[in-house]
Amino acid sequence: MDFLDELQHRVLLGDGAMGTELLAAGVPAGRCLEELCVSEPDLVRGVHDRYIEAGARLIETNTFGANAVRLAQHGCEHRVSEINWTAAQLAKDVAKGKDVYVAGCVGPLGITAEEAAARGIDRHEVFTEQIGALLDGGCRIIFLETFLDAGELLIALEAKQALHHCPVVALLTGNDPEKFQAAVAKVRAAEAEVVGVNCVDGNHALHLLEGLDAGELLAAFPSAGLPQSHDSQLVYATSPQAFATNALALAERGVRLLGGCCGVGPKHIAAMAVALRETVTPD
Ligand SMILES: [Zn+2]
Repeated sequence: MDFLDELQHRVLLGDGAMGTELLAAGVPAGRCLEELCVSEPDLVRGVHDRYIEAGARLIETNTFGANAVRLAQHGCEHRVSEINWTAAQLAKDVAKGKDVYVAGCVGPLGITAEEAAARGIDRHEVFTEQIGALLDGGCRIIFLETFLDAGELLIALEAKQALHHCPVVALLTGNDPEKFQAAVAKVRAAEAEVVGVNCVDGNHALHLLEGLDAGELLAAFPSAGLPQSHDSQLVYATSPQAFATNALALAERGVRLLGGCCGVGPKHIAAMAVALRETVTPD
């Protein structure tokens, strides 16, 4: 069964955050996290391993900000191909022999359309470079996530569709349900197979997905609530148990691909795996 067939038949569990896990493993804040795929592959491998052990059936490459615009903040703008290709190979290597899908993660560029125009940046070209390298590295699912601007997501989606016909997961974020649903309609019209939401808390994810047709393939990767500073460490509000309870509500709402964003770690994914196993009966 391939990825889309599986989603038609059952709920599939994704992974949680990469960034928060790497920081928790001692990587200093401000370091280029995507570059660690090349310089510290075992750290990244360890995060992938822990998510698979927790029950994730889909892992995302450590490439959220691995585009030329964001990498330029670390002087790594000429290493887009190297970093994305290496990240894909690394995740594929971890998943080898296991029943686990590897999705190539692509985030927004972090600049507005106006800023891109003023700086002479061709956003389509920037996404093409990153997604091309993820595909070369062996990813056969492209995972576009945390897009606030539907226009930017559509540019990334077009770049992907011009390169390869493999499935794409397209996740938007934001607060306004009407805006969100209008954006989802555009993304569906551009033939994204799986659409949904990430980087909002679980209750808000439920709220945003309310107006959508559950007959289509939906995904939700909520965050673990807002972080609070505690003894100079960031602590996320949502416990694994509360997160799992919310995941069940999302599954009942028809969401087929479930994972987590900021602050969601292997313990949250493991709690979700147990809750889903106990409640959602396989066909
Ligand atoms: Zn997030």
